[in-house]
Amino acid sequence: MALGGSVAERLPSSTSVRPEPAPGAMTFARAWFKAIAGTSYLPMAQAEVEAFLLELTQRLSDALHAEPFSPQVGLQIGTDLVNAHVTSAEALGRSVEVIDARLLRDLGLAGDAGFDDLHDRMARLLGMVATGFARALRDRTLDEQEMVRRAAMIARDTAERRLRDSESRFRHQANHDPLTGLPNRALFTERLGRAFASAATGSRLGVCFIDLDGFKVVNDTLGHHIGDQLLTAVAQRLGQAVSDHLLARMGGDEFVVLVEDTTCTDDVLKVADSTLDALSAPFHIEGHEITVSASIGVVERAIAGTTSSDLMRAADLTLHWAKKSGKGRWALFDAERNERELAQYALAAAMPAALDRREFFLEYQPLVSLTDGRLLGVEALVRWEHPERGVLGPSHFIEVAEETGLIVRLGLRALAHACKQARQWLDLGGHTPFISVNLAVRQVRDAGLVREVTAILDRTGLPPERLQLEITESALMSSTDEPVRALRALSDLGIRVAIDDFGTGYSNLSYLRDLPVCELKLAGSFVEGLRSPAEDPGRAIDERILATLVSLAHTLGLTVTAEGVETAAQAERLRLLGCDAAQGWHFGRPGPPERIAELIAPTALPPRANGNVSGAG
Ligand code: C2E
Ligand code: MG
Ligand code: MG
Repeated sequence: MALGGSVAERLPSSTSVRPEPAPGAMTFARAWFKAIAGTSYLPMAQAEVEAFLLELTQRLSDALHAEPFSPQVGLQIGTDLVNAHVTSAEALGRSVEVIDARLLRDLGLAGDAGFDDLHDRMARLLGMVATGFARALRDRTLDEQEMVRRAAMIARDTAERRLRDSESRFRHQANHDPLTGLPNRALFTERLGRAFASAATGSRLGVCFIDLDGFKVVNDTLGHHIGDQLLTAVAQRLGQAVSDHLLARMGGDEFVVLVEDTTCTDDVLKVADSTLDALSAPFHIEGHEITVSASIGVVERAIAGTTSSDLMRAADLTLHWAKKSGKGRWALFDAERNERELAQYALAAAMPAALDRREFFLEYQPLVSLTDGRLLGVEALVRWEHPERGVLGPSHFIEVAEETGLIVRLGLRALAHACKQARQWLDLGGHTPFISVNLAVRQVRDAGLVREVTAILDRTGLPPERLQLEITESALMSSTDEPVRALRALSDLGIRVAIDDFGTGYSNLSYLRDLPVCELKLAGSFVEGLRSPAEDPGRAIDERILATLVSLAHTLGLTVTAEGVETAAQAERLRLLGCDAAQGWHFGRPGPPERIAELIAPTALPPRANGNVSGAG
């Protein structure tokens, strides 16, 4: 049955224990039961139904005799039938039939004097039973319809709510990082886009692009599950530190903070500082104490005149500046530096073609003895005759050539050309200087270096002791022994090896003891100190440091050449301090090979190696 509840509840409320039923009532009730059995599904046992019908019979009997007569009783009986689930049209038809045919008889009223009157009453009662039945059935159908409608409504509401819930859950998932629970790149991009779209005139914003330093090491050494926990812990600290702003995880160990409505750069730098502070204490994860730092790229600017992708590109670039300058710090975007780097990238891209077009050439600068003024050597310095920008010095392109690896090709060509030139000076006779050529870090680590150098010497016919290779300290500070082995092989060939720009790097003299080095070139910064007036107290210290350096170098069997000597006074001081040789504008600026030839043999025709650097390789 569709309707719930116990049988007792469903039975008409008027069902109550009555006194003795009228004689024959039970007989009639049974006949009634038989008549309707099977016409409707009744959720009651037969005895219950018979008792119910007996009760109705009794009420009908009472109604027939009641004074004044009220056919309304029939209405209630029809209703009660329906409420007891006697609901089919057939059941009603059979009920009317059996009442009409048997009730008066079974109640023993058939022969009554007032039979006609009773019969008339009976007809009116039956009419009311049918009406009550029909109304109750209609009401019940309406009720059921209403219930169905309401159930449908509730079901629809529930479904809609579930859908809304799952939509918002889905939206949350799509916009948040599952590991840390932070907004993800998609949400950040959307928020940034909105900030741009709704910006009032003159409004500014900033971002901090954060990247953890050395996170990969944590992952590699402690495992990814520790790495994941660390990221979660970092996210939590950052979240607390910058709670006023949107913090998103961009992926991996990259996070970004969006700082809206800034008034100046300081607003964002403060956020960057809090971020660094937040990470300063170590993390404790599963018994490991882990220290992490972060590098941060900071950009702050007016919204007008920039785009969200420009902003993010700048932040990314600035992050790399922070990494490059030592990590664990922030760097602030600098438009000029950016321009400069862009120009360098443009140069890097143009270099291969420039090499093919032979746009590189060498200038030569004398290295002079401080004891007797003799020309000891000549340093080859590369230049680029750029078709649009004119002659460019190495500071414009050596670093990028190192980065792109093109330095190996350029360096070898320069070396070959310089050796060819030196060989020609040798042919002038007399005392000829060695040629000193700079080697880049990349070249020193290149496995083919010794073979290439040997081949160049063979090809040009320059004796090995006429060649000096200048390398910086950093080239030797390598985790592998390769560079040292290569230098030893070159030194064994008789080639001179000099440490260039000594004093700008590690300045580790004891380290040099084990290296096949014969000369130390002191960086120009040492010589600069000699420029201050003699009574300056700092100058005395500078001189003492220089004197100590020179004497230590001599103890190690190295000769010392001072770079950047611009005045006679400097040269004289350096001579008194024990320096062996000097290089600088005072003795001659870098220039064409003819000038060196004049120094070697003033009367001879100056020979010149044909072509330029590019053509010599
Ligand atoms: P470096 O090897 O220390 O070369 C000396 C630099 O000092 C040269 O700069 C030279 O022009 C400059 N200089 C010489 N005398 C003076 C002076 O009295 N005062 C001042 N202020 N400067 C002086 P340059 O030619 O600009 O070269 C810069 C650097 O580029 C070189 O420093 C060297 O490290 C690198 N470089 C030059 N040519 C090559 C090359 O063929 N290969 C490689 N790998 N690096 C090169
Ligand atoms: Mg040099
Ligand atoms: Mg130098």
